[in-house]
Amino acid sequence: MDIRPDILAAIGDTPMVRLSRIHPPGNVVAKLESFNPGGSSKDRIGIAMIEDAEKAGLLHPGDTIVEPTSGNTGVGLAMAAVLKGYRMVAVMADKQSKEKQDLLRAYGAEVVVTPSDVAPDDPRSYYSVAAEMASRPGYFRPDQYSNPSNPAAQYASAGPEIWRQTDGRVGVFVAGVGTGGTITGIGRYLKEQNPEVVVVGADPVGSIFTAASDDQVHPYLVEGVGEDFWPKAFDTTIVDEWERISDAEAFAMTRRLVREEGILAGGSGGMALTAALRAAVRHADRLVVVHLPDGGRNYLSKIFDDGWMRTRGFEEGL
Ligand code: PMP
Repeated sequence: MDIRPDILAAIGDTPMVRLSRIHPPGNVVAKLESFNPGGSSKDRIGIAMIEDAEKAGLLHPGDTIVEPTSGNTGVGLAMAAVLKGYRMVAVMADKQSKEKQDLLRAYGAEVVVTPSDVAPDDPRSYYSVAAEMASRPGYFRPDQYSNPSNPAAQYASAGPEIWRQTDGRVGVFVAGVGTGGTITGIGRYLKEQNPEVVVVGADPVGSIFTAASDDQVHPYLVEGVGEDFWPKAFDTTIVDEWERISDAEAFAMTRRLVREEGILAGGSGGMALTAALRAAVRHADRLVVVHLPDGGRNYLSKIFDDGWMRTRGFEEGL
């Protein structure tokens, strides 16, 4: 029989698919993380951060997990919390869509909504509310931005999968950077197997990672990637090359991916793919693996909505 003991055992072993319609030379392949049961790469880190905290004595039966999160990490944590018997509280800013709140509630999480129009150090901000809760006895905050279990989980699972699935022939690895956990963990694993592997970071225009100066740091629309601070979980020395991608390029490519390859991915995946196609020209003799963190269903009312795209000036990407 081929039966998993529970849903957590269905995390990982996601497929890798060649994108030969969008890139006819054939040297670009995508790692489809939407195939994880919670729908994203963050399923890998949810259970890992919980089990590592249990081992470290930071999380005990009956405790509550609290994390400021708008999406994928919240689902990964909430799913694992169900199986592990913890309460889960997700703190979210009110600018996040109702669907995202409802999704977390569906997994049994309590959602605390905080105002978006306050400074991060305001006691009402989502960051402050989560920090205050986490300081209470019986509460644990995983904090994916500084938690070493985040890159470690990607190192331990997605890294070896990519190595195995490509028979060690991966030459370039391309991923967007949010907490940096994905690129740090997978990039480190692949470089340990073969120091020649080139790791390419994809960054939204407006994010700090590729900003030449502070005045280049500004809001942008692609979700889950880029930051306005440097997360502790991110080892910047892993990245060999950076690509800076606009919202317009990222969203147009997200649309091309489903129209030409039938792969419905999120906007950060479209951003990473834009970077990967550039890298595939620079490194034409290498196999390029691009990481697609989640699926497109979360973005039907945004990237895949013509009206939303038009009012934001992205009609060229339709
Ligand atoms: N894309 C999406 C949609 C995400 O939710 C995240 C996680 N913030 C990322 C990309 C980036 O992954 P990481 O945090 O591991 O850098």
